Amino acid sequence: MKQLFAPMRGVLPDGRVLTITPRRLAKGYILRHKKNELQLTVPYGCAIDGLMDKFNELLARFDAKYPTVSVQRYTIGQIIKCHDVEIELYSQSTRPQHVIIGEGIPHSRLGIGTSLDLSDPATEQFLSSVICKLAYRLAPKLILPYAVQVAERVGVKPFQWRIGRGLRTLGTCSAQRVITLSCALVFLPLELREYIICHELAHLTEMNHSPRFHALCNNYLNGREQHLITTLRHHQWLILR
Ligand SMILES: [Zn+2]
Repeated sequence: MKQLFAPMRGVLPDGRVLTITPRRLAKGYILRHKKNELQLTVPYGCAIDGLMDKFNELLARFDAKYPTVSVQRYTIGQIIKCHDVEIELYSQSTRPQHVIIGEGIPHSRLGIGTSLDLSDPATEQFLSSVICKLAYRLAPKLILPYAVQVAERVGVKPFQWRIGRGLRTLGTCSAQRVITLSCALVFLPLELREYIICHELAHLTEMNHSPRFHALCNNYLNGREQHLITTLRHHQWLILR
């Protein structure tokens, strides 16, 4: 019987990239969509026979639950809908090599230069970074008033709120009680923005991830912490991060 000990990578017939990673602590088979590819985590040393059957079964369930991310992420005429703001992509020939940012709430526009090919992965990455630049400008108005409102509801107050450019870390809380929220929160539905905010607010009292921390965070979220953690894990991001 062949067993899997090292990561494997391949391309599916529909063009999606799949990475299979064996992990010692994995209890079961977990399929996620991350960094524009499918990631399957499997128990270390699992049997290779039957692995693809297991994967196909997981993928069928995954695709039924989360509509397939199209191979091309952005198109002209697309309207990227976020909570309280939408971003329209239109074509412009004034600056063919550039993306023109038209910033506004509730409607922002990005003028895509006619020389840019949106099916090219490098252009897709570039456009994603421009969308994040726009989100960084919108975030103080979109995210901070809501964060203040959530803090008032739960009855704690940081020394200061900030917006960060980093996309991987969605929030941090410093020993100086400064909470930094990532501009990527613009691309999260309201309940997940609330989850990140409550997580950081709970760090004002508990500076770790102890059971006491989670009990407090869960209390701030009216018992929805676990549900929101799962929802965030499966969130289909509109940006590359
Ligand atoms: Zn934390």
